[in-house]
Amino acid sequence: MYNQATINRRKSTRIYVGQVPIGDGAPITVQSMTNTPTIDVTATVNQINALERIGADIVRFAVPNMEAVEAFKIIKPRVNVPLIADIHFDYRLALQIAKYGVDGIRINPGNIGNESRIRSVIDCARDKNIPIRIGINGGSLERDLQVKYGKPTPEALLESAMRHVDILDRLNFDQFKVSIKASDVFMTVQSYRLLASRIDQPLHLGITEAGGIRSGSVKSAIGLGLLLSEGIGDTLRISLAADPMEEVKVGFDILKSLHIRARGINFIACPTCARQEFDVIGTLNTLEHRLDDIITPMDVSIIGCIVNGPGEAVVSTLGVTGGHNKSSFYEDGIRQKERFDNEDIIKKLEAKIRAKASMLDEANRISISLL
Ligand code: SF4
Repeated sequence: MYNQATINRRKSTRIYVGQVPIGDGAPITVQSMTNTPTIDVTATVNQINALERIGADIVRFAVPNMEAVEAFKIIKPRVNVPLIADIHFDYRLALQIAKYGVDGIRINPGNIGNESRIRSVIDCARDKNIPIRIGINGGSLERDLQVKYGKPTPEALLESAMRHVDILDRLNFDQFKVSIKASDVFMTVQSYRLLASRIDQPLHLGITEAGGIRSGSVKSAIGLGLLLSEGIGDTLRISLAADPMEEVKVGFDILKSLHIRARGINFIACPTCARQEFDVIGTLNTLEHRLDDIITPMDVSIIGCIVNGPGEAVVSTLGVTGGHNKSSFYEDGIRQKERFDNEDIIKKLEAKIRAKASMLDEANRISISLL
């Protein structure tokens, strides 16, 4: 089985967004972006806190104007998760929001304007220890590169990225990460591969404008899965035309699938057929929804009958295998005497999962305190 040890991660430098490390072997972080108007302070604070609760390590928010900068000043003390300001073109927004304690800025130095403006932003970032993300996007490729290459290509995206990287190199600023996204999976993957061989800084992964929950998740899983399995990528954002909470869930699901980072429950469930002894799909959907708050890593198998149930249960933390009227319950791979009435499976399994999570958390606390 592949696991983190078998993925040789690309070596990179390290930056910190607030207290969160990125690169140089740090855990791969999951980001999302608010979609509330930033000037709506209450809505934005609520969304940032909800994203943090579901696991977002870092949250980005749009800063289209000075009103948004002033809103940030009120938002920042009300949240804990590090915040990255997404700024395009207007260097004054970057200078002002840096004063208010932003943790990172996404801005492309080549789009700021003249040399003195670029220098003022980079000097400010250096003074305040604020990292920058260069964000290249296939949809906003410079006109001259579109003419040169005829259309967005991995080489065109790389050339665009290197223009910005070269500016930061020239100014002796190395606290940055880079993203090089396209909406096409193969173009994105090839662009990141090229970029990974050219710079040492951490890479922020994503398929841009990937689509809705289903299509966007599939594209992101394929593209990011390819890159992550090659060891490329230090932080990621799944771009979905959906509730940002879904972006975080999908991001963690991708990392969990590759055994890179565990968080919350990894459900294993059968697709169901005429042999199922209880409503597997209903049970799974209800528990996935109800147990969003569990962050303890564990495998839970929910299998409709004995064809595959015992085999999955013995390699899961907790498992149920459908039986006639009553279903078997397994804990740590061992079949328990207790069986669940099929109509009570959801309630019983939820209680068992919560109890197991508390027990594992406590055991973890004790082992850390003994270190
Ligand atoms: S485990 Fe049983 S119920 Fe589930 S799909 Fe397989 S045969 Fe059908």
